[in-house]
Order: sequence, then C-alpha cells, then structure tokens
Amino acid sequence: MTQEQNSLAWIEDELARLREAGLLVNIRTIESAMESWVTIGGRRLLNFCANNYLGLANHPRLRQAASDAIANFGVGPGAVRTIAGTTSLHLELEARLAEFKKAEACITLQSGFMANLAVIPTLMGDNDLIFSDELNHASIIDACRLSRAKVVRYRHGDVDDLAQKIAETKEYRRRMVVTDGVFSMDGDIAPLPQIVDVAEQEGIMVMVDDAHGEGVLGTGGRGIVDHFALHGRVAIEVGTLSKAFGVVGGLVAGKQLLIEWLRQRARPFLFSSAMTAPDVAACIEATKILQDSTELVDRLWQNTAILRQGMRQLGFDTGMSQTPIIPVLLGEALLAQRFSRRLIEEGLFVTAVSSPTVPMGKARVRVMNSAAHSQQDLEQALDTFERVGRELGVI
Ligand SMILES: *Cc1c(COP(=O)(O)O)cnc(C)c1O
Repeated sequence: MTQEQNSLAWIEDELARLREAGLLVNIRTIESAMESWVTIGGRRLLNFCANNYLGLANHPRLRQAASDAIANFGVGPGAVRTIAGTTSLHLELEARLAEFKKAEACITLQSGFMANLAVIPTLMGDNDLIFSDELNHASIIDACRLSRAKVVRYRHGDVDDLAQKIAETKEYRRRMVVTDGVFSMDGDIAPLPQIVDVAEQEGIMVMVDDAHGEGVLGTGGRGIVDHFALHGRVAIEVGTLSKAFGVVGGLVAGKQLLIEWLRQRARPFLFSSAMTAPDVAACIEATKILQDSTELVDRLWQNTAILRQGMRQLGFDTGMSQTPIIPVLLGEALLAQRFSRRLIEEGLFVTAVSSPTVPMGKARVRVMNSAAHSQQDLEQALDTFERVGRELGVI
C-alpha cells in the first residue's frame, strides 16, 4: 500500500459505516434533459425529485436564449467581474430581477450557496450576533461559521423563542436574524411577518434565504417578501436561480447601499468568476416568462393541491407542508430507502432523504411538484404511492 492510500484508509471505514446505516447517497445518472419525465438506465421515469418547479430547466425559450448568448458572448466569463469587466447581460439580469422583486437593486452570484457565503461574512464579523433558525440550510450554517460571528440558534419557526433570545443579548455591535423562506425538507414557510416585527423593534437586520420560494411564492413567483407584502422591511433577500428559474445561479436583492457593499467586499463576488453568459441569458428569459404571465406558477400550485390532498386521503403523513414540497414521512432511513427503491422500480423517480439532511428517525421520501406535470402524471404518482405504501405497510 502506498503512503497516500494508507493516509486515506479511514475513508473506507467511514463509507462502510454509512452504507450499513443506509445513509450512503446513491447518485443516479440521468440520460436525458431535466423534465417531468427523465431517462435513467434506459427507462423513462416520472420525475418528482427536481426543484424544477416551473418546468423551465428545458424550456424552449430558455434554450434559445442560452444558445443566442453563446453565439454573442461565448461560454466563459474570462475572469472575475472586477478584473475582466462584466457583460451587459449580467447587468440586464440584475436590473430585471430587482424590478421583478420590487427591490432597489440586485447582485447575482454563481449559486444560492455562494450568495449566502457572499452576504453573511460580508455583513457580520467577530463582534456580531446572528440568530439562526435551527433548520436553516447548510449554506447559511457554513456562511455563519465563515463570518466568525456568534450564532444563536432559535427553535424552528418559533418567534417567541427568537424574541426571548434577542432580549437576552444586547451588547453586540450588529445583530441579524436569518431564516430560510421555505424549509426544503418539510415544505413549511417561515413566519416572516412576526420575525420582522420582533426584529424591527430592536433595529436588527432580517435576512431571508428564499431559495425554494423564488418563482414559487408571492404574485407570479416574486418570493416570500411579496407573499407577505413585506417590501422594504426585509433588509436582505437571497434567492437562487437553480430551482424554479431552472438554470443555475444565486441572487441577493435589497437596497442599493447593500448591493454596492457586496460589490465592493463580498469575497465570492471578488474572487470567483461570474455565472456564464448562457446561464445569465436563460435566467433573463425565465424572468420575462414570469413577468409575462402567472400561468406556470398558478399551475404549480394547482398540481400541488391535487397531490397533497391525494396523499393525505391515502393516509400518508405529509407533515407541515404548505408549499410544492411534499414530504412523505416514513421514520427509519432504511424504510425510506426501500420505499424510494420500490417507487423507482414502479416507474416513479422519488428519492429518500435521511440523516444528516433531516433528523434521525425522520427519514422520508420527498415529492417535488412541478407545473410541468400533467393531470395523468399526478394520477400515476398517486396510484404508485398507494400500491407501494400498502406493500410496505405504511398505509
Ligand atoms: C437549495 C438551497 C440553496 C442552494 O442553492 P443553489 O443555487 O443550488 O446553490 C441555498 N439555500 C437554500 C435555503 C436552499 O434551499
């Protein structure tokens, strides 16, 4: 054995442990475009895994916009924007997103994860305090760590707990409350109006990461701030272009002042290249589609209502879901994996989620709705869930 192999041998043990516990992720190979049906191992499967809420990931208008952008701007940005300049496309996207979200300004990053890494460490430091919902996304947790601010976790969605923790901590330079808008594992919505009320009384910044609400919540998908009519009262709105927008990228929307500060100081902006031109052009087209009509967003919610009601009638536990994310709670990781495996064998692409993504004992399969599903797709999904649910003794 070489020395390198020796020094990495511990990974074998760790992987074996995960495999035994049923916690090893199995990444499937998709042989087709990301649509409501996908090809895996040569089989067509009905897809309920993707965050492709509006079916934009392979939309003809986005594809056309991306290929036009390649013809005009090529495929790579060349360097970071502060060094090699930025394209007119990037500026157009940021202006459009700001308008769409009724915010003063917007900056785009390479992904939603990067947007969180751009915002939190740039605003918060050693002497600062961040109140963070205990179920916040990994990218928020990592961004908080990177900032070196003190982090106080409050109970999930519990504004009384938050208020109490705020009252106990006054001696910090700056304070921020940060929450996911929609929680991706349970599909519930943060109590943002109450969070804003509590924070405003103390002059605390509020940041919401609306990755799963962007293109989903609010009028025509304008997000959680629009959903609760909180315009101007939430200092920082982070979003992603990788979910409902169907492409890849992240955004921060807020006051001009905030966005200028991020352009000057945010390290993922200063030290990592921008989204590519075809990505940006596709996102511009997605924004246009959302600005033109609420049709896709309306259909997403109609499909969601049908599926959630159907699942509940079958006797499945869909937890706290209020959004197109529908968890079907099963308990043990091995059962969730088995359930998912049987669904896939029966032609339904639905994946299991277990620890560490959700707490131990709360494993589930997660059904992601899309405007792209037909009525027939929804019926097939419910039939398959019923069959597998009975077979495995869940219903
Ligand atoms: C998905 C998600 C992200 C990451 O977004 P990407 O664009 O895929 O990097 C960040 N925050 C939350 C809350 C998310 O759900």
